[in-house]
Amino acid sequence: MTLEERLNGWTERLYRKNIGSCSGQELYYSILNVTKELMAEKPVISGKKKVYYISAEFLIGKLLSNNLINLQIYEEMERILAQNGKNLAEIEEIEPEPSLGNGGLGRLAACFLDSIATLGLPGDGIGLNYHFGLFKQVFADHLQTAEKNAWMEQQSWLTRTDTSYTVMFGKKKVKSRLYDIDVVGYENGINKLHLFDIESVDESLVKDGIDFDKTKIDKNLTLFLYPDDSDEAGNLLRIYQQYFMVSNGAQLIIEELEKKGYDLHHMNEHAVIQINDTHPTMVIPELIRILTEEKGFTMDEAVGVVSKTCAYTNHTILAEALEKWPLEYLEKVVPQLVPIIKELDVRVRKLYPDEKVQIIDKDKKVHMAHIDIHYGFSVNGVAAIHTEILKETELNHFYKLYPAKFNNKTNGITFRRWLLSCNRELAALLEEKIGSGFKKDAAELEKLLDFQDDEATLDGIASIKRGKKEALAAYIREKEGVEINPDSIYDIQIKRLHEYKRQQMNALYIIHKYLEIKKGKVPKRPITFIFGAKAAPAYVIAQDIIHLILVLQEIINHDPQVSPYMKVVMVENYNVSYAEKLIPACDISEQISLASKEASGTGNMKFMLNGAVTLGTSDGANVEIHQLVGDDNIYIFGEDSEAVIAHYANQDYVPKKYYRNSKVIREAVDFIVGEQAMAVGHKENLERLYGELLNKDWFMTLLDLRDYIRVKDKAFQDYEDQAKWKRMSLVNIAKAGFFSSDRTIAEYNRDIWKLQQ
Ligand SMILES: *Cc1c(COP(=O)(O)O)cnc(C)c1O
Repeated sequence: MTLEERLNGWTERLYRKNIGSCSGQELYYSILNVTKELMAEKPVISGKKKVYYISAEFLIGKLLSNNLINLQIYEEMERILAQNGKNLAEIEEIEPEPSLGNGGLGRLAACFLDSIATLGLPGDGIGLNYHFGLFKQVFADHLQTAEKNAWMEQQSWLTRTDTSYTVMFGKKKVKSRLYDIDVVGYENGINKLHLFDIESVDESLVKDGIDFDKTKIDKNLTLFLYPDDSDEAGNLLRIYQQYFMVSNGAQLIIEELEKKGYDLHHMNEHAVIQINDTHPTMVIPELIRILTEEKGFTMDEAVGVVSKTCAYTNHTILAEALEKWPLEYLEKVVPQLVPIIKELDVRVRKLYPDEKVQIIDKDKKVHMAHIDIHYGFSVNGVAAIHTEILKETELNHFYKLYPAKFNNKTNGITFRRWLLSCNRELAALLEEKIGSGFKKDAAELEKLLDFQDDEATLDGIASIKRGKKEALAAYIREKEGVEINPDSIYDIQIKRLHEYKRQQMNALYIIHKYLEIKKGKVPKRPITFIFGAKAAPAYVIAQDIIHLILVLQEIINHDPQVSPYMKVVMVENYNVSYAEKLIPACDISEQISLASKEASGTGNMKFMLNGAVTLGTSDGANVEIHQLVGDDNIYIFGEDSEAVIAHYANQDYVPKKYYRNSKVIREAVDFIVGEQAMAVGHKENLERLYGELLNKDWFMTLLDLRDYIRVKDKAFQDYEDQAKWKRMSLVNIAKAGFFSSDRTIAEYNRDIWKLQQ
């Protein structure tokens, strides 16, 4: 049967219509079903050993375009639709975006699933099926408000399975239900994303916004991703979610091993469990519990084999993000795990007296990462500098105990989504110039370097950028009601809102620029400053920073003296789909975290691949981008990680000093509580942010502000040398091959998983 016949079959079956007479929505469902059918016919990737990537988040984004690309039927589908007067790109817009992650960590998990399948490695994801996922962000009165994000539909990529397990919370019993999403590799077979849900979930618990009764576990468990954790009920719910995820995961893994007839005493020869950050840590004691209580293992045997099966990825050195659960919470939620965790703690104490490496500390808090490090066989960081900081500073005590466990796996992104799908025009140009090999071997992008003096290629890339800037302008006009100028420089900062990522520093630059223009110093070319970011609902200062940016947007865009030269737009509800529109249109990629704090970043890689030039600090994967493109093709500023770590150690950073010593800083900071801002914004938010910057500034904004202004101005100036800029853009694309998640996954496999193919 041809693809067209299949599609017609579905439109007839579902709607009694042919392709040409279907609405976009009807066509979307029909194509969804065709695609699911084609995936179901693909071979499941199999082998002697399988990786289970367990993660609280999978920020998979819309799947239609990616699945069509990986099945190699995108062009054919596009043609069939065009012949029937339909447009595939428009139909893609109809798909709701699954909302199963917060940001980088969840997006990484999604890229990894794509690469695992593309490399033909047996590997499934294990996670949760959050009904409302992460909240939907809506701006009102220059503030972020949160609404539930109902993304699930009757017909979707999810397939309900017959798999259901019992999960015990002490004496309370909950039944789970497994939903699967097929993950198809590029020109390869199928793996699965296993998402667990509860049978008894009750969506009607959520009324206005995102508030709900946090105590009704059997009804609320899978409603939201990481609900507000500012109170005890929220924290308990997170532990419930985590245990629910790992208990289901452990049961699934053991069932699969037993079905294949493997001896669980050798489970490490057939399974490897990659623990994505500390959220799934309880899989370790849970496996030990099942093996000892139900499978007749001695404690030594269980600890031995589980320790050879589990590997841990660290994603952060931020203290507040390294989970520490009060033992009493665990006793409330999962009393059956507490004796195991205590036993694991006792075993550590016998070997190592050092208080810093204990699992249960003197305040009776359980350090989840410590369980992973002692009872896993691998600990990896996610960029070279991050892994070095783990070894030398944050986890140095552990590194001394287990030097061989530590390794680096610099993050990556799947080029199928972040190039082939989001920038088809650029992918086509690259194919024309360097052939199609880069699609399977990203290192081949380097061939593009042969064209760095080739006018036609340079102009080709520039004209694709221009087209993407126009498309983004149209989209932003429609979605945000803001008019932006495609002739302006697009300077983009999109990522979760966090003080360490320093959106506030970018905002202070914008104030500085505004004041300069007011004084008559206008830029050579207009600049558009674009932000996209959600802030955790309980993160007060992050909300204040959003408020400031929205206030600046209001003031600047409505100032007739200034708006011809600069515009600010903060897009609402930044997510993967929005990223796919923003990134190809970007000129300058803002990666300005406080050095040492951004473990890797992956947004930086997506921008580079799409020909943007990075303006950033020596942090995370920026360091590796810098090494790859060289000094001439990146803008680096600010103090480096060693200097920053020294400031923390010596406690010598005093923001007021920087404020006092610089008029530029003073003027920018004072603007926050000046007449103009106060007239538009809220006194409470603005004053709190002002006070925070002057008295605390935990992430040292003012430390780097002057250097940031200097280097950013240089970048804007360099943009006027278009010949130079075009070459920079080309070199960034050419050097991006290293950041393919195919490379990252090949390294995980080589060093950690060791799956035979
Ligand atoms: C890639 C991505 C991120 C991560 O961005 P960073 O700049 O690395 O923090 C976050 N959110 C979405 C939607 C993404 O696509």
